[in-house]
Amino acid sequence: MDKFDVIVIGGGPGGYVAAIRAAQLGLKTACIDKWLNADGKGVFGGTCLNVGCIPSKALLDSSYKYEEAKHNYDIHGISIKDIKMDVPAMLSRKETIVKNLTQGVAGLFKANGVTPLEGFGKLLAGKKVEFTNHAGKTEILETENVIIATGSVPVEIPPAPLTEGVIVDSSGALEFTEAPKRLGVIGAGVIGLELGSVWNRLGSEVTVLEAQDKFLHLVDSQIGKEAAKQFKNQGMNIMLGARLTGTEVKGKGKKQEVIVSYTDSEGDKTITFDKLIVAVGRRPYTENLLSGDCGVNLDERGFIFVNSRCATDAPGVYAIGDVVRGPMLAHKSSEEGVMVAERIAGHKAQVNYDCIPSVIYTHPEIAWVGKSEDELKAAGDKYNVGTFPFAAVGRAMAANDTAGFVKIIADAETDTILGASVIGPSAGDLVQQVVIAMEFGSSAEDLGMMVFSHPTLSEAVHEAALGVNNHAIHKQNRKRK
Ligand code: FAD
Ligand code: AMP
Repeated sequence: MDKFDVIVIGGGPGGYVAAIRAAQLGLKTACIDKWLNADGKGVFGGTCLNVGCIPSKALLDSSYKYEEAKHNYDIHGISIKDIKMDVPAMLSRKETIVKNLTQGVAGLFKANGVTPLEGFGKLLAGKKVEFTNHAGKTEILETENVIIATGSVPVEIPPAPLTEGVIVDSSGALEFTEAPKRLGVIGAGVIGLELGSVWNRLGSEVTVLEAQDKFLHLVDSQIGKEAAKQFKNQGMNIMLGARLTGTEVKGKGKKQEVIVSYTDSEGDKTITFDKLIVAVGRRPYTENLLSGDCGVNLDERGFIFVNSRCATDAPGVYAIGDVVRGPMLAHKSSEEGVMVAERIAGHKAQVNYDCIPSVIYTHPEIAWVGKSEDELKAAGDKYNVGTFPFAAVGRAMAANDTAGFVKIIADAETDTILGASVIGPSAGDLVQQVVIAMEFGSSAEDLGMMVFSHPTLSEAVHEAALGVNNHAIHKQNRKRK
């Protein structure tokens, strides 16, 4: 093969986006990915499209519609008899979406002139890449630049070894063909809560064991408290300060169950489930990726070491996405991919790491960006807060979806928006409005002066921004000292 300008190793949302942007900028680009789908076919799209963001959202949406139809249509004057759940149909809808999207990436590669290489990539010294296709044929490729985007894989823990069909990771939890009666989830992080919600809505009794004492410890405390209340109302049993210590699988076939040992403040305990999801985090994936002399280093946690522009210690070699420091999010990976492609092409580009939103796609949704009140308080910074409840938003009432609130925080002196958190309907989309404001350095007053359509959920963002300076219209403003 001719020499490339850019070879991307890994075709998830970091790698495939980097490859497309590089090709758009006129660079001769190849993207290597080893992923094989259930039919044994090579596909691009990585964790996100195959077993992550997209399939989990497909099941979250299907299960939410089922739950709505079952419990929440009466209030709208709609009654449905004999609602039936068809989990295999939900799984097959999910698979169709995944297939369409992964085929879409292949189409985008073709349209932009990216060379797809299905197989395994290994970085050698001197910006050479060893490529082994799925048939086992190896060749050495030459390139001016390498972008590593090999992503992450679920963390496995010794007390809970994966056991076909009983103890599963997030990928296995997207494949249950019926709702387990008693479902355990280890880890109340984003993935544990999303997958727990899916199966809770479809009828499982869900118990989540979380080692930390504080629920959603990375999220604003006020939001975390509201979330705990909402999940409890939905019947999810979330046990905090409960650390898994062991598992024992008993029985055969449909009778299989797993006895989970854990410790909490009262001592050692056990609990029995039909299935167990282990969702204790993800780790960077670098297996067999780096030759000893390639010049790329890892940090102490196993991530590829990069600077703020995603350059590794080896000249011309970059790394992006889940395999490097920072939040493990698809959009963070993609933005790093665009930045690196543009810098290789000689453009000035950067990622604003202070403005990366996070979303938990439960119901209510939970989303945040920038600094939380807890962080600002701990740092001793002076700030003002505006909050607005969905219970006072006409559109939320019309939709019978009023749980939660918007919270916006601004610098006490300059009024510059420092962060926002939302728990409630469409929180992910609402927080994005604040992301745009923050990216433009907006003050809370600026955001409050913008015109928001009525009646929309966005009005909660407007009112929270007004509330920062005690100008909210549809709620009583607090007295400021
Ligand atoms: P990945 O998507 O992991 O892609 C890496 C690719 O590299 C893979 O295709 C792999 O096959 C390939 N690869 C690895 N090593 C090699 C090699 N040596 N040679 C060739 N190919 C190789 N994030 C969000 O932002 N929003 C969400 O809603 C969301 N939901 C999620 C739900 C679940 C259940 C999970 C598991 C994750 C979710 N995530 C979500 C996280 C998101 O999927 C990741 O942050 C994102 O996929 C990371 O992108 P990436 O390109 O860095 O790596
Ligand atoms: P995240 O990193 O967001 O995917 O969340 C993973 C969660 O799993 C974290 O909140 C951890 O505290 C939790 N966790 C990790 N190990 C254990 C364990 N052995 N028992 C219970 N919870 C755990």
